[in-house]
Amino acid sequence: MNQQDLQFIGGARRSGSGAPLSITAPATGAVIATGAGANAADAAAAVAAARDAFGDWAGRTPGARSDLMHEWARVLRERSGELAAVESVNAGKPIRLAGEFDVAGTIDNTAFFAGAARQLEGKAAAEYSGDHTSSIRREPLGVIGSIAPWNYPLQMAAWKILPAVAAGNTVVLKPSELTPLSTLLFAEAGTAAGLPPGVINVLTGTGVAAGQPLVEHPAVAMVSFTGSTAVGKRVAAAAAGAVKRVHLELGGKAPFVVFDDADPEAAARGAVAGALINAGQDCTAATRAYVQRPLFEEFVGRVAELMDRVTLGPVEDPGTDMGPLISRAHREKVHGMVERARESGAKVVRGGRIPAWTPAAGAYYEPTLITGAAQDSEIVQREIFGPVLVVLPFDTDDEAIALANDTDYGLAASAWSRDVFRTQRASRDIRAGCVWINDHIPIVSEMPHGGYKSSGFGKDMSAYAFEEYTNIKHVMSDITGAARKPWHDVIFQAE
Ligand code: NAD
Repeated sequence: MNQQDLQFIGGARRSGSGAPLSITAPATGAVIATGAGANAADAAAAVAAARDAFGDWAGRTPGARSDLMHEWARVLRERSGELAAVESVNAGKPIRLAGEFDVAGTIDNTAFFAGAARQLEGKAAAEYSGDHTSSIRREPLGVIGSIAPWNYPLQMAAWKILPAVAAGNTVVLKPSELTPLSTLLFAEAGTAAGLPPGVINVLTGTGVAAGQPLVEHPAVAMVSFTGSTAVGKRVAAAAAGAVKRVHLELGGKAPFVVFDDADPEAAARGAVAGALINAGQDCTAATRAYVQRPLFEEFVGRVAELMDRVTLGPVEDPGTDMGPLISRAHREKVHGMVERARESGAKVVRGGRIPAWTPAAGAYYEPTLITGAAQDSEIVQREIFGPVLVVLPFDTDDEAIALANDTDYGLAASAWSRDVFRTQRASRDIRAGCVWINDHIPIVSEMPHGGYKSSGFGKDMSAYAFEEYTNIKHVMSDITGAARKPWHDVIFQAE
């Protein structure tokens, strides 16, 4: 049994004072670490450490913060093997995905924000009134309370922490209690790179025991949350009481629209990759494919063939394409949705089962392809967060866009066609924070990620993330030196 101090407060690991936690490997069910979880007292200690660190950190030059963050990226690169191995085991990710996507993406993000720290922008200073010089100061908010989910633990920690600290804030991040291990390594790498103690703190505990006291703590200036829409609403309500700034990255139900002039092979491959990445536990995963009727049968047949070739296996095996779901409880939820779809008349073309070969305690689920579901059914409307693709036909372009927009969510979408006018119209008309054209899933550090509608608001990654983590102050300086200003006439006219 690997007993660990699961809190990282003031630059060092320490034990929590709350209930014990067991961290398990989703692929085998084995316990990989145990330790005490955080409670309200730990949350208060972490916030105090972050508050103590704030003045010094915010007062450093952007160049000084940038240098330390470049060093952080270097340390992460050096430790990338360990990070990938830990992420793979704790989150149940195939080692190729953990290394080439999660860890590589996190290092790139760190390097990006190291550079961006020196590029905070605002309107040009100028004499807009003629008599004053106006300038913009972009100032950090203070202590940021961040809450992250389990599906991409390392990347979610990076998306929350990096823009905040690059802008001069300090952070207390609560990862999911299921997957804290890579986040702790990420924070330790920051300290090894020279970030002062208290700039980054990690609280490992449940939402109720650790998350809620963090959100409600009066010294937390802003709450940055990534997770489900249901919990996001609760977090937003708690933050509203104290008029805290809130940033919400919530669920998704991405449509995948295939017009009849699309490359059928590219679309089928894109759908399989887009639906099965991270075993479908991706907020931007392709979950609803709408395929124009002339291509429908061919598309379904090819997706089924390709799904048959996806290899499930141990996460440490480089030959494994798809790993398990995060837990057996989550697999039950996914399977329940597939079963209810089947019972209501949908056809399960592939999968919909627990594979026979898996270790008894592993949370594996077969790649699943469904047709014949109703647009208003649960499987089309609600987030599944599993390796399940539903394919539905459409006839006209307008119908496709209406169907694509017909859920509460609006995080991401894709449109597939060789006709530039069609894809341009789709990118205009689909209401989502990201629309891919002839691809689905790729992300880059330079571009924002964030939702419309119930998928939340606020942007992660890119320079747009600075909007979230800074206050904009207008400084307006008189340049005339006159005691009697012309505008005083509207109040009093005495010479
Ligand atoms: P979740 O909402 O159950 O939990 C998210 C985090 O909130 C966890 O750390 C949890 O402990 C914490 N939490 C729970 N109750 C809380 C409370 N009352 N107060 C404070 N914190 C609390 O989500 P999950 O199951 O961990 O993750 C999956 C969800 O995350 C999916 O809905 C997915 O779409 C979403 N997600 C969104 C994005 C995005 O960028 N929009 C990215 C990744 C995941």
